[in-house]
Amino acid sequence: MAKPIVLTVDDDLDVLRTIERDLRTQYGADYRVIGSESPEKGLDILRQLKIRNDSVALMLADQRMPRMNGVEFLLEGMQIFPEAKRALLTAYADTTAAISAINEANINYFFLKPWDPPEEHLYPQLDDLLDDWRASYRPAFEGIRVLGTRWSPRCYELRDFLARNHLPYQWIDVEQSAQDPETKRLLELLGTGASDLPVVLFPDGTKLLESVPAQVAQKVGLRTRAQTDFYDLAIIGGGPAGLAAAVYGASEGLHTVMIEREAPGGQAGMSSRIENYLGFPTGLSGGDLARRAVVQAQRFGVEILSPQEAVSIRTEGSYRIVKLADGGKFSCHALLIAAGVQWRRLEAAGIARLQGAGVYYGGGASEALSSKGEIIYVVGGANSAGQAAMNFAKYAEKVVVLVRGDGLAATMSQYLIDQIQKTPNIQIWTRATVAEVHGEARLEEISVLCWDTNKVERVPASSMFIFIGALPQTDWLAGIIERDDRGFILTGPDLMRGSERPKGWTLDRDPFLLETNVPGIFAVGDVRHGSVKRVASGVGEGSVAVQFIHNYLSKV
Ligand SMILES: Cc1cc2nc3c(=O)[nH]c(=O)nc-3n(C[C@H](O)[C@H](O)[C@H](O)COP(=O)(O)OP(=O)(O)OC[C@H]3O[C@@H](n4cnc5c(N)ncnc54)[C@H](O)[C@@H]3O)c2cc1C
Repeated sequence: MAKPIVLTVDDDLDVLRTIERDLRTQYGADYRVIGSESPEKGLDILRQLKIRNDSVALMLADQRMPRMNGVEFLLEGMQIFPEAKRALLTAYADTTAAISAINEANINYFFLKPWDPPEEHLYPQLDDLLDDWRASYRPAFEGIRVLGTRWSPRCYELRDFLARNHLPYQWIDVEQSAQDPETKRLLELLGTGASDLPVVLFPDGTKLLESVPAQVAQKVGLRTRAQTDFYDLAIIGGGPAGLAAAVYGASEGLHTVMIEREAPGGQAGMSSRIENYLGFPTGLSGGDLARRAVVQAQRFGVEILSPQEAVSIRTEGSYRIVKLADGGKFSCHALLIAAGVQWRRLEAAGIARLQGAGVYYGGGASEALSSKGEIIYVVGGANSAGQAAMNFAKYAEKVVVLVRGDGLAATMSQYLIDQIQKTPNIQIWTRATVAEVHGEARLEEISVLCWDTNKVERVPASSMFIFIGALPQTDWLAGIIERDDRGFILTGPDLMRGSERPKGWTLDRDPFLLETNVPGIFAVGDVRHGSVKRVASGVGEGSVAVQFIHNYLSKV
């Protein structure tokens, strides 16, 4: 934890060095002592400290300084750190002036120069002031701070990115805390306006205006560039299937890289509670599962590039070459595609305009806390919708689950249906679809088409979370990898037409179980045609594929 600061200001360098030394000797273990040779510089230091979210315990200034005297400095300093204790150093001749200034400026104490011995004339009084300050001191948050507004799509994208990448941050909603003096002070010091949001403040004092995930990723040191230009195994996609393959591949000696477009964990990372994954009888959140898997993969030496996107692949002899969204590329011998599926879009009038401003696809992890006292709509009847409803019900006043069918039995696991039935603030609205969404800058109402009456009902809604199934995004593989008519990748026996091997196949064996129509390129998890859409099956396929990859590599 960062030490609170004691700032001392004096234009006489000899006096400054002496007071700094005395302060450090007595308080250095618990406080950081900073000296400034001018009040102007002192104020600059205070502004920087505020932006870094440091705490200032005490400001101690010499009264007689040109341009700005000690009292004037302390008065200005007080605007930045109102809680800091304020003390003056004065010469005997200035005592009367100092006393009247003390009364006017609410200064806590004044010390006469010289203060020798400090054990008698300095420390006892400062001990009192610092004890007083400590009594109401709450350590400041030390990580990344994000300033923004709740209904801005850009702010949502950034918060979602931080949450899914497990980067701790403090969220400051500048609209909601507009009356909070601390927020006001911070905004004044930053001199930023609405167009600069989201603003990200880092503990080292740097700030990013109009910040986007890629900039933050770079700043916090997330790796997006490959360290070498060749790997034994490259994995595209960091969901459960890709992570499992990475752990097994690297633990069995393969030099492995994994590329993830958004955040490791994939769809599972968006799940508030996975209750059917073996070995976790009380369930675990997808975020937890992802975090553990990433640590495990890194322990075995897997290189994780995230956020980074694979945009094309090609083959050159036994090399498989992957091109990345930032123009970078590398080659590998074996390639595993574990790119999963992405949310299907809901067709309803006005919906695109409000995406990120009350309308969200999946996720919602970063939104749940903000939904306190609100009416939330969850669209969809599968397990993902059920988990989200249960999660929101902890905070929201009411959660309405909109389903097209007659009920949940055909699409949701019984354990979730049971939980929902026991949760009084969840309502199921069956045989209904969203026809239109309304709102200027954010979602305010939705129009719901009721199938039984064929009437449209317009209801208030602050947020709507959509979970209506998912499809693979594999167009970037067209012309190289064989897919079915919905874009799922064909592997192993699905590629065979009778005893005929896939077109262009050059080896004298059939494709392995999880191998695509290109030797050495494998596909696992939800992106694979015919796969079971579960965490455990993705993990299973990811680990099994490594066995086939070893077989393949033994003959390259
Ligand atoms: C909200 C929710 C709750 C769920 N709950 C459960 C549950 O309780 N139990 C259960 O068994 N299953 C559950 N599932 C299903 C389960 O999460 C999925 O079956 C599983 O995550 C599939 O894993 P995957 O690795 O194949 O793909 P995904 O998890 O979809 O991961 C694929 C990853 O690839 C990345 N990617 C895609 N294209 C590229 C590219 N070109 N370059 C780089 N990266 C790319 C994506 O960003 C994504 O992170 C849930 C799903 C959701 C959405």
